[in-house]
Amino acid sequence: MSASRPLTVAAPERPVSWRAALEAAVRDEFRGTPLVPPPGSSLLPAACAVPGCVRTGFTAPWGRFQARLCHGHADRWIADGRPADSAGWVAAQTALLVISVVRNQLAPQKIFFPKPAEYASLKPYAGQQVVNGTQAKLYANDQLGPDLNKVAGGKTYSQVSAEWIAGGMKSATLASQRTTLFTGETLKGLLLNAWGWAQIGSIAILAGILLIVFGGILFTLPVLNWLLNLRPELETTKSQRIPQALPDAATS
Ligand SMILES: [Zn+2]
Repeated sequence: MSASRPLTVAAPERPVSWRAALEAAVRDEFRGTPLVPPPGSSLLPAACAVPGCVRTGFTAPWGRFQARLCHGHADRWIADGRPADSAGWVAAQTALLVISVVRNQLAPQKIFFPKPAEYASLKPYAGQQVVNGTQAKLYANDQLGPDLNKVAGGKTYSQVSAEWIAGGMKSATLASQRTTLFTGETLKGLLLNAWGWAQIGSIAILAGILLIVFGGILFTLPVLNWLLNLRPELETTKSQRIPQALPDAATS
C-alpha cells in the first residue's frame, strides 16, 4: 500500500445500505406504511384451491387440478393417491377444514358434560369434553336448556330483564337471574353456532363423497361404452342389448 498514487478518483458518496438508499428516495408519507392489497388483488398470490384454506397456492396445476394447492394440501393430495376427481377431493378437504375449525373453537372453551350425567340423554357423554358439533348441540339443548329453565321458572333472559327494569332495577334476585340467563343463553347460542358449522362440514363431506362417486361413474362410462359397443367379439350379442349403438348396423 503505497501512499504515492499517481491518480485518485473520488468515489461517489455511497449510501450506508440499500434500505437507507430506498428510504432517502421515498417521500415521507409513504415511509413505514405497509401496503395491504385488497382481497382479490392481482398483487396477492393466488390462494390454495381448497375453499377456506388461508394458505397460498404454490404447487402448479398437477393432474386434473386447474388451480394451485398450498404445500400442505398438495402433500395430502399425493398421500391420497392423486385422486382423479379433484372436485370431490377438494370438497372433502373443505369439510375437514370446517370440522377442524369447529374443534379449534370448542376445545379451548373447556366445556365438560357433568359426571355423573344430570339428564338421561347425556349419560353416554358423562365427563366428556365438548369438542365436536354433535356434542355442542347436545350440551346446548339437553344440558344448558333444562339448566336455564330452572333459573327463573322457565322465563327467558328478555322476560326476566323486562321484569327487572319494570321493577325499577332494584331486585337483586332478578338481577342475578338476568346475568345467569344472559351468560347461559349466550353460551347456548355459541354452541349451536358451532354445531351449525359442523353441519356445513358434514354436508361438504357428503357432497365430496357424491362428487367422487359421480367422478367414478364418469370415468367408467367410456370403459362401459368400449366393453358394450366396440369390442369386436361381442358383435353378435351387443346388437340385441343395445340396438342403437352400432353406426355400421344402420348402413348394412
Ligand atoms: Zn391449502
